[in-house]
Amino acid sequence: MAGIRIEHVTKSYGPLAVLKDFNLDITDGEFVVFVGPSGCGKSTMLKILAGLEEATSGRVLIGDREVTDLAPGDRDIAMVFQNYALYPHLTVARNMGFGLKMRGTPAAEIDRRVKDAARILGVEHLLDRRPRALSGGQRQRVALGRAIVREPQAFLMDEPLSNLDAKLRVHMRAEISALHKRLGVTTIYVTHDQIEAMTMADRIVIMRDGEIQQIAAPDAMFAEPANLFVAGFIGSPG
Ligand code: ADP
Ligand code: MG
Repeated sequence: MAGIRIEHVTKSYGPLAVLKDFNLDITDGEFVVFVGPSGCGKSTMLKILAGLEEATSGRVLIGDREVTDLAPGDRDIAMVFQNYALYPHLTVARNMGFGLKMRGTPAAEIDRRVKDAARILGVEHLLDRRPRALSGGQRQRVALGRAIVREPQAFLMDEPLSNLDAKLRVHMRAEISALHKRLGVTTIYVTHDQIEAMTMADRIVIMRDGEIQQIAAPDAMFAEPANLFVAGFIGSPG
């Protein structure tokens, strides 16, 4: 596990400045939520961390290591998306172990890690099924399992619950929080839902138009929002 340091990151697409001088230090084991309206740059920041997009300037460190120039496969982080992106023709067990297999992990080790993760997530009984035979919540658990088996230094989650119905979303929120308590892996969780942010975060990073408006623990942000935008977004009386 490791902390993450984001230093002066900017990102532009042609004339469009999507991230403007993003700075953040994340402590080892912390659960940080990026929240803000659609289009404010949350996914772009996660993609830069994951190595799926290049920053226009600035750098990112994971632990002591500068990763900004490393390929996605060389970064020790796992990403969970809202569309679970499971392989339809592979069983749950093979979906969960796929990344390890690509890295040349021995089969017995893959088997052990997949079974451990499946037990933690309560999907042990589904290991031989294919994704189409699963419910939305089960698929999301498998997607989480695929991230866990890699035993990464950090998890990046981009609106992982937004395809689920409201009731399941509330349930999975609690599951992800419990999982984080159990594994203690540094996590950055992106959402546009202020309730998710308020209930799950150690610290909230609230963004607007590519700029951080405030970084604070949920209680502190609610008690002392930095400006009217923050107050309005999180529903604080200010
Ligand atoms: P969020 O995840 O907060 O909704 P995004 O990071 O996806 O926001 O997008 C931020 C802004 O960057 C939006 O205006 C979006 O249209 C723009 N954008 C994202 N990806 C690209 C791209 N590949 N090319 C051009 N513009 C992009
Ligand atoms: Mg997004």
